[in-house]
Amino acid sequence: MENYKALVEKQRAYFLTGKTKELEFRIKALEKLRQVVQSHEVELTGALKADLNKSEFDAYATEIGFILHEIRFVIKHLKSWMKPQKVKTPMTHIGSVSMIYPEPYGVSLIIAPWNYPFQLAVAPLIGAIAAGNCAILKPSELTPTTSALLAGLIHDHFQEEYIAVVEGDVATSQALLAERFDYIFFTGSVPVGKVIMEAAAKNLTPVTLELGGKSPCIVDEKANLKLAAKRIAWGKFLNAGQTCIAPDYLYVQKSIKEPFLLLLKEAIADMFGEIETYTRIVSERHFLRLQEFLQDGLIYVGGGSDQNALKIEPTVLTNVTWDDRVMADEIFGPILPVLEFEDIEEVIREIQEKPNPLALYVFSESNDVQNKVINHISFGGGCINDTIYHITSPYLPFGGVGSSGIGAYHGKGSFDTFSHEKSVLKQTTKFDIPFRYPNVKDGLKKIKMFLK
Ligand code: NAD
Repeated sequence: MENYKALVEKQRAYFLTGKTKELEFRIKALEKLRQVVQSHEVELTGALKADLNKSEFDAYATEIGFILHEIRFVIKHLKSWMKPQKVKTPMTHIGSVSMIYPEPYGVSLIIAPWNYPFQLAVAPLIGAIAAGNCAILKPSELTPTTSALLAGLIHDHFQEEYIAVVEGDVATSQALLAERFDYIFFTGSVPVGKVIMEAAAKNLTPVTLELGGKSPCIVDEKANLKLAAKRIAWGKFLNAGQTCIAPDYLYVQKSIKEPFLLLLKEAIADMFGEIETYTRIVSERHFLRLQEFLQDGLIYVGGGSDQNALKIEPTVLTNVTWDDRVMADEIFGPILPVLEFEDIEEVIREIQEKPNPLALYVFSESNDVQNKVINHISFGGGCINDTIYHITSPYLPFGGVGSSGIGAYHGKGSFDTFSHEKSVLKQTTKFDIPFRYPNVKDGLKKIKMFLK
């Protein structure tokens, strides 16, 4: 088995020089990363096309441009985020000053999935750099062209003792996990998330787990149906449904189901009519898994597939129940099952019984319905009257809850994730309040005045 002890030790020694903690150093690294991405846009677009048949538009909007925007935001705010923060001091601590110092953990490990193979590897890296850490990045083996390109770019522009990419599959990932890291940031599936947390527990290494699950999308009778259809079609079928926060399935109110489904069909035809430019399924194994779901319910839209090209048409299934295979686990493909409901309370109850979704979407003009859903269901994050869009705001930390993950990132969230908040009390030596000492006269009485 490969051994990464030497690499981790080299990074830890480099971290201990203190270089990576300097503001100037962090900004320079982020600027260099931005420049590397900008000057290799064509290669990156080509790699994403080779691995997933991503269109140039999707490659830029959801991967390259997304990263450039994130780097710009972080560079702009980093100085203020890094400043030690002075907080209040209580009466009992009079004379002292209380400070919180954000400081890097040290050597971080970032393990990435294949669905946005560039963005999901580099977005956490931005956080690691911003917070002053060293990082080892393990991209997904299922998108080998992007993985190799990323490894080459990082190797050519960053010292290995600061940032390194290790390419490989599960065995490589496990060999890395055998080492002691100071932080582990994992994006991937729920079962592998458990493996990561178990490995981290051996060294009490803190983790962020960005996982998945079935994200519901509710369409109530008071929704703007046309806009709902458009925004749902976009969010679901973008990247051939291989998006962790894609609406996994729909709950549509019975009274508007027929007109809504017609609008959904139109929106899909308008946006995803051309199959040649459509993103493909990442592997044959994933293709075959998804194809099984086409047997469930009734095909309302799509249903076609091409095994050679690993493509599945955007598909909508009706007459689906919770007993169907398509409803058992996260779909992660261009198949959208539709359930119907009469009463929102029933939807809330059903979702509450299931693992916490990573995302949830509710389409309704009714404040009452919106509030009920937001206040009664625990989920990572989501939108009212939209899908996916919450992930693109740097002011909204992105992450799951319960089985959909631990921790959050993006914008300041990324800096916070990779920083430990070190609390320090700076005490005065000009005087010494005596109450705490056991030999003070009436000590207990006095301490009871303060601690009650
Ligand atoms: P995955 O869990 O199979 O793999 C993710 C990474 O873990 C890969 O780099 C892989 O090499 C490694 N890995 C796989 N098995 C491992 C093991 N046993 N031990 C150690 N490492 C292992 O996930 P995937 O198929 O690449 O991605 C799809 C999943 O990721 C979906 O569930 C999706 O919802 C989730 N996801 C979540 C987010 C998010 O931000 N929350 C984003 C994208 C994808």
